Amino acid sequence: MREQKFTEFLAQLKELTEVQRTELRERLGKKQHKKSPALIVNEKFASKPVCPNCQSNSVHKWGVVSDIQRYRCKQCGRSFNALSGTPMSRLRKKELWLEYSKALADSMSLSKTAERCGIDRTTAFRWRHRFLQTPSHNRAFCSGITEVDETYFRESFKGKKLFHREPRKRGKDASVRGLSAEQIPVVVARDREGHTCDAVLRSRTAKEVGIHIGSQISPASVLCIEQSRILIKFAKDNGLAFETIGTKQRRGREKVFHVQNVNAYHSRLKNWIARFHGVATERLPSYLGWRRLHELALRSPEDWLREVMK
Ligand SMILES: [Zn+2]
Repeated sequence: MREQKFTEFLAQLKELTEVQRTELRERLGKKQHKKSPALIVNEKFASKPVCPNCQSNSVHKWGVVSDIQRYRCKQCGRSFNALSGTPMSRLRKKELWLEYSKALADSMSLSKTAERCGIDRTTAFRWRHRFLQTPSHNRAFCSGITEVDETYFRESFKGKKLFHREPRKRGKDASVRGLSAEQIPVVVARDREGHTCDAVLRSRTAKEVGIHIGSQISPASVLCIEQSRILIKFAKDNGLAFETIGTKQRRGREKVFHVQNVNAYHSRLKNWIARFHGVATERLPSYLGWRRLHELALRSPEDWLREVMK
């Protein structure tokens, strides 16, 4: 801001109401107290450090390296910090982690992320999947009325060299109506509190659904399923109660049992993923995790960083 403008701005301060003053103080305060990534890493273990090797709580502090607190396990003798054993443990340039988290929050492309953080594109790429590895596994547990539905993503070998590629096998999936071998099935379960669990399926079978999301659904849930043979089989195989949508609905029943939320989730997921102009199939789980982070409506880069380190 130019000097003269700033003087004018200062002169206007006396016109602020008490509420506006409070808001201004809060905004200025937030910037000043922005935590360093190292502090956020240390926060994670501040209350209850656990040894990543033997899960013991019996640990003591063991010096500080690059602002990160180290601990030593009394049980197994190993030393560690809050990131040891996590996908982010050996990443360098921690001072850029909040800026990188902000790029994730803004769904930035790799080139823009690299530019914003002052890192090269390869690093931006490597970091993206390190940052998103834990979120891709941290799927929520669904309970109560839980809507389950499938969606599909076009298979993509983006970023992969195509030499030596095996001729694609057209398996059972190709014969299923409406599904070609190039469509990758993704199953999403979402309960009425917004807990979401998703998975990329290797094949479109009830067994695969069970392997990937079976343990994430409460046995007491009631599944809402839209006439999907494999999802109905999954429910039956796992002894889960279910309601099928769109068949012989009793009046008023469809107000409770429907798949509108999971369908809306699919649209948000698809619209959001479209901005990346095709996602490599092997990276799809990272993107599912990334989308779930967006759904948490995290408020700051600090919150994003805390979440990816969980
Ligand atoms: Zn230990």
